[in-house]
Amino acid sequence: MKNYTTKLASLLSLLLVVSITLTSNSVNAQKKKNKKSKTEQTAKPVPKKDKKKTIADLTKSSKEIDGLFKIYQDTLTGSVNMLITKEQLDKEYIHFSQVANGATDFGVFRGAYGGSTVFKISKYFNKIEFTKQNTSFYFDPESALSKSADANNTEGVMASLKVEASDDKKGLYLIKADDLFLKETFTQIKPSKRPGTPPTAFSLGNLDKNKTKINAIRNYPENTDLAIEYVYSKSSTLNGGSNAISDGRNVSIKIFHSLIEMPDNDYEPRFDDPRVGYFLTQVDDKTSTETANYRDLVHRWNLIKKNPEAELSEPVEPITWWMENSTPVEWRETIKEGVLRWNIAFEKAGFKNAMVVKMQPDDADWDAGDIRYNVLRWTSSPNPPFGGYGPSFVNPRTGEIMGADIMLEYVHFTNRLTIDKMYNEASDNIAYNSYNNEKYNCIAGELMQESSFFGKTVISAFGDSKLELDKMLYDNMMRLIMHEVGHTLGLNHNMKGSQLFSPEELATPELIEGKALSTSVMEYPSINVTVDRSKQGIYYDNSVGPYDKWAIEFGYKPFKSDQERESLLSKSTQPELVFGNDADDMRSTGKGIDPRVNIYDHSNDPITFALDRITLSKNTLKTIKNTFTEDGKSYQELKNAYLILTNQIGGSGTIISKYIGGVYVDRAMVGQEGATQPYTPVSLEDQKRAMKGLEDHIFAPNAFDAPNELYNFIASQRRGFGFFGGPEDPKIHGRILNFQKRVLAQLLHRNTLQRISDSELYGNEYSLTSFMTDLNKSIFSTDISGNVNSFRQNLQVEYTNMLINMLTGKSSSSYTHTAKSMALYNLKSIRTMSSNSGNISSKAHKQHLRILIDNALKEIK
Ligand SMILES: [Zn+2]
Repeated sequence: MKNYTTKLASLLSLLLVVSITLTSNSVNAQKKKNKKSKTEQTAKPVPKKDKKKTIADLTKSSKEIDGLFKIYQDTLTGSVNMLITKEQLDKEYIHFSQVANGATDFGVFRGAYGGSTVFKISKYFNKIEFTKQNTSFYFDPESALSKSADANNTEGVMASLKVEASDDKKGLYLIKADDLFLKETFTQIKPSKRPGTPPTAFSLGNLDKNKTKINAIRNYPENTDLAIEYVYSKSSTLNGGSNAISDGRNVSIKIFHSLIEMPDNDYEPRFDDPRVGYFLTQVDDKTSTETANYRDLVHRWNLIKKNPEAELSEPVEPITWWMENSTPVEWRETIKEGVLRWNIAFEKAGFKNAMVVKMQPDDADWDAGDIRYNVLRWTSSPNPPFGGYGPSFVNPRTGEIMGADIMLEYVHFTNRLTIDKMYNEASDNIAYNSYNNEKYNCIAGELMQESSFFGKTVISAFGDSKLELDKMLYDNMMRLIMHEVGHTLGLNHNMKGSQLFSPEELATPELIEGKALSTSVMEYPSINVTVDRSKQGIYYDNSVGPYDKWAIEFGYKPFKSDQERESLLSKSTQPELVFGNDADDMRSTGKGIDPRVNIYDHSNDPITFALDRITLSKNTLKTIKNTFTEDGKSYQELKNAYLILTNQIGGSGTIISKYIGGVYVDRAMVGQEGATQPYTPVSLEDQKRAMKGLEDHIFAPNAFDAPNELYNFIASQRRGFGFFGGPEDPKIHGRILNFQKRVLAQLLHRNTLQRISDSELYGNEYSLTSFMTDLNKSIFSTDISGNVNSFRQNLQVEYTNMLINMLTGKSSSSYTHTAKSMALYNLKSIRTMSSNSGNISSKAHKQHLRILIDNALKEIK
C-alpha cells in the first residue's frame, strides 16, 4: 500500500510539471497569436469560408485528357487529377506495367513485364479506394459455399484517396491522381534486397517524391496509359553501379502503367493439362471435391474463326506483330520468316494466317511500349540481360493474352563475350522485384549465343567457308525468333524436346534438311555440330517441331467436345510429343531427376552426344593457336576460343552426370495408351556408361589436356586499368577444377545420393555402394600409387574435402546415414591408398590427404 501511495504521489507531481509546461506553452502561443492578429488587422479582411469547390473549379487551369479514366493535368504544375464515375465503382479493372527503361544493375530492364493484376474501385464515405483482388480461387456460384468465398484470403487496399470535389447528380468524383501514380501504388518497383546481399552491393536510394514525375499520359477508350519516371535518391553511395548508371545517388526507373477495362468478350477460358506446357494462372476450385481441384487457366490469345464451319479459316483478328523500326535492316526478312513459321502450327488448329507481321513506320506516332501493339523490339544494352525475351500479359480472370512483345539484344550477333557470367562464377545478387519473375526467365538467347560461339569456333578452326558461317547464323536467328514467339503464344519451355533424333541421324544432312531438330523449339538444345565435318547438316531447328504443332492444337483448336480434347491429349505418349519443363529447375545442381529433361544436350542419347562434343572440342583445341591469331591483332580471340572450347568439355560433364541416380518421369494418365509408369530408374548400363565417361573425360589425369604452348598466349587485350581487379595470367588449374567440382557437386548432392538409395527400392540396379566405390576408383586408382599430376592433386584434395564435409560439414545432417557411411568408407580407403610413394610433389600431396583424413576422423563422433 505504501508503495502504491508513493507511486501515486510521483505521478501527481509529474502531472503537475506537465501541466505547468503546457500552460507556459499555451501562454507563449497566445502571445504569438496576438502578435499575428495585429499584423493581420492591417491586411485585407479575411473572406468568409470558401463554399465547397466544384470539379470545374479544381480543373479550370487543367488540360482535359479523355479516355477510360478522364484525367486533368494542370498546365502550370503538371499535377494530375482523375475523374471516377459512378458507373466505374465496384467494377473490376486490370493493371499492367512494363519497364520503359532501367538498368540491369538492379534487374529492372527495358521491356521487362510486371504481372497483370485485377483491381476494383469503390467508394468509402468521402474516399475512393483502389483494392487489389485475389484471383487464385474459384467458387461455383451455384454452391452455397460461395457465400464464404472471401474467408481467409485477403484483398489489398493499395490506395484510399479523398474525393476533392464531386458532382453527386452526375455521379462524378475527382481525386488527386498524383497520390496514385507518383508512388509505388499499383506495384513494387524498387527491388527488395535478397537476404545476405553484401552491404557493398549496388542499391537504390528512397523514392524521391519531388523528382518523380509523369512523362506522358495516353488515354484511350479501353485503357489509360501513363509513363512514370520514378527517381530513387540518396545523399551518398558506396557503390555507384556499372557504367550504365550516370549517378548512383539519383537513379531513374521509367515504367509504363496501363489501367485496362475488363474485357467483355466471347473469350472462352481453357484449362491446363500436365501433359502440355502452357503458362498459366493458377486457380483452385474451392467448391470441388476432386483431389486435384485445379482450374488453372491456360494463357492464350482469343483466336476466333472468321468462318466457324470451315476446316481452315482465317481468324477474325490475327495476332499482329510490329517490327520496331530499330530492327537491323539485314535481319528483318529472317525475323519475319521466323514469326510466320508458327502459322504452320496454327493450320493444324484450323487457323490460316493466324500471325501477321508489319513494319513500324519511321514516323509512327506510337511508341513500342504502347500495349495496343505487339512489338518485336531491339536493344543494344550496356549489360545485356538476355539475348531474347518474349513476355506476354493476360487477363488474370480468364487467361486471355492481351498483349506481348519480344525483346532482342544486338549482342546476339556480335563476337563479344559480354555475358561474363557464362564463363565466370555466377554473381547472383540480382534482387527480387515484380519485373524479375523467374517463371518467365528465358536464357535461350544466352545459350544460343554461346552455342554460336562454339559453332563459329569450329567452323573457323576447320577452315569451313564464310557461306557455312552465314548459314549457321541464319539458322540461329530463325530459331531464337521461333523460341521467343512460342513464349508469346503461351508456351513454356519443353526441355525434353531434344530427344527427337539419334546422334547418327543428326549427322545425316539429307535427313534433317529443313526440319525441326527437336520435338519443340521451346527447348534449349545445343547447336548441332558434327565431329565429322563432312557430315554437317543444319545447325538449328529450321521449323517448329511436332510437339509445338500439337501444343498449339491443344491451346487454340476450337474443340467440339471434351472427347475431342481428350483424344488429342491421349497422344502425349508418342515420342515426338514428350514434354518436360524446367519446373524443378534442372538447371541447378542437384535439381531435376529426369536426365532427358535437360538443357544444352542434344539427341536421344545425350551421353554419346556429350562424349562426341568433348572429342570435337579437344580436336579443335589443337588447332586454335593457328586459326585464331591474326597479324596486327591482340590474342583476345584466341583466349575466347579457349574459354568456349573448355566450357563445352566442362558442360558435357554436367550433362553426363545427370544420368547417375537419374529417374525417368512419365506424366501420362492412368490407362493411357503407351504409358509406362511415373518413375523408372535409368538402366544400370547407362549409369555405368555415364560413370565411365566421367572417369575418362572429366576426372582422368589428362582430361583437359591442351597443347602446353597454347597457355602462353591466352591473353586478354589490355584496356585502361582493366587488370586492376586481379592478376591477368591464365588461371588454368582453377578453371579445370571448377568444371570437375560442378560434376562432383551433382554426384555427391544430398538429393542425388538419397535418390540412388530410394530408387534401389523400385528398380535402380546401380547401388549406392557400387556407385560410391566406382567414384572413388575413378578419382584415385590410376595414379595414387605413383606420381600424381597437379590437376589430379587438385581434384583428389577437393573430392576428399567433399567427403569430409558430408560427415562433419555444416550441412552434414542433410545426408542420409547410408551416404555418410559410404563417405567414411571411402575416406578410409583413400587413407590406405595414400602411401608414401612417387616423386616429392606426389609424396607431399599424399601426406596432405592423410592429414586431412586423420583430422576429420578425430572430429567424427
Ligand atoms: Zn525461353
